[in-house]
Amino acid sequence: MVDATPELTDFRASVRTLVRSSFLDTYHERSKGTQYPYDSLKTLGDNGLLGLLVPEEHGGQGAGLQALGIACEETAYADSSCAYPVFAHNVMADMLIKFAAPEVVERWLGPLLAGEAVCAIALTEPGSGSDAQALTTKAVPVDGGWELSGEKTSITQAPDADVTVVVARESDSGRISAFVMDMDQPGVSTHRFEDPGFRPTGRGSIAMDRAFVPDTHRLGEGGKGFAMIMQEFDLTRTLIAFMALGLAHKALDMTIEYVQQRHTFGRPLTHYQGVTFPIAEHLTHLTAVRALATRALEDREAGRPHTVEAAMLKWWAPQVAFQTVQDCVVLHGHVGWSEDLPLQSILRDVSNFQIGDGTAQIQKLIIARSIFGRQVMADSGPTTATTQENS
Ligand SMILES: Cc1cc2nc3c(=O)[nH]c(=O)nc-3n(C[C@H](O)[C@H](O)[C@H](O)COP(=O)(O)OP(=O)(O)OC[C@H]3O[C@@H](n4cnc5c(N)ncnc54)[C@H](O)[C@@H]3O)c2cc1C
Repeated sequence: MVDATPELTDFRASVRTLVRSSFLDTYHERSKGTQYPYDSLKTLGDNGLLGLLVPEEHGGQGAGLQALGIACEETAYADSSCAYPVFAHNVMADMLIKFAAPEVVERWLGPLLAGEAVCAIALTEPGSGSDAQALTTKAVPVDGGWELSGEKTSITQAPDADVTVVVARESDSGRISAFVMDMDQPGVSTHRFEDPGFRPTGRGSIAMDRAFVPDTHRLGEGGKGFAMIMQEFDLTRTLIAFMALGLAHKALDMTIEYVQQRHTFGRPLTHYQGVTFPIAEHLTHLTAVRALATRALEDREAGRPHTVEAAMLKWWAPQVAFQTVQDCVVLHGHVGWSEDLPLQSILRDVSNFQIGDGTAQIQKLIIARSIFGRQVMADSGPTTATTQENS
């Protein structure tokens, strides 16, 4: 694969060396448990992979979006549970730099960059997922700040999070804002889900009962929280495509190696087009996904619109990656359907991407609306801008 510049090629090589030597061999065993990968988080922090978008004067790398895409892909290849913090910490750090008050940056940026704190972003609620703007978590103004009450659900890293961005409705104005909440705050409790994949990073619910956040901990202006999160979706949906690529490539590499060794009917499997052509097709699809994802990041870097590209990536990349891994399982025969190899873990992990950050239907809605306008939902659902889109 060819990166845009020699610097990015060097960056990919150095990340690959680090993550494959540090995480690859332990991925399979770790994927079975629910122990948060604190040791790996520290390794990622020590090597500057958690603050790639943060300017050097704030302690980050200032390496840019393309570098972040590469880091997500390469880390997911080695261990998806280590890739998630690369994804989440970089996004969270970027949000803090862009929108948080200096005291919030002072409190959380250092620990996040160093891999000494775990973060989560909480938008979804029991009654609102795709229809995100229907959220009911309340932020009640009190002396010196806000009290948050409500429940967030299906939040990645919630069980181990130290700090969470909570999207809530201000009770006095009805505006939706985003708040940086310390998870140690009285009134906050979490519940861990039993998940098929991404078990070490975990997912869960967050209950808030009058949890206090100081005034300074509202991100940006009041009422901008929803738009802020929607704009981050254009980035996170693109980065998810890179993580999906990493997982799919690992399965494909395992398969390329396996089919050269395995013989049937007196010949290696590589003699049969029924084996080699699916591999050729999946490599084509993965290469095309990477090209679109790279373009979306270039557009973001240049300040060009990329909501539609991010939506295309969010429905397409998980599907391409899932189908790749599924075929890799079959191309391994019976050993593919066992826990002796990591393929089943990869399959479970990659299936995550089909739902988190918005389903395929919602992404296609965004794309269709960019073609036909807002009438698209008129016959089939709500007509307002309440879905997870920012257009
Ligand atoms: C692994 C994982 C990690 C997640 N991590 C986070 C996180 O860190 N933070 C967070 O806030 N959330 C997170 N989520 C939640 C995720 O964003 C929501 O699950 C997702 O947006 C869908 O919402 P829902 O589950 O409420 O499904 P619903 O909105 O109830 O939808 C159910 C089904 O109906 C379809 N549907 C709904 N409306 C329409 C329509 N108008 N037209 C066509 N089809 C429609 C959907 O596509 C879906 O298939 C995560 C989810 C998963 C699975």
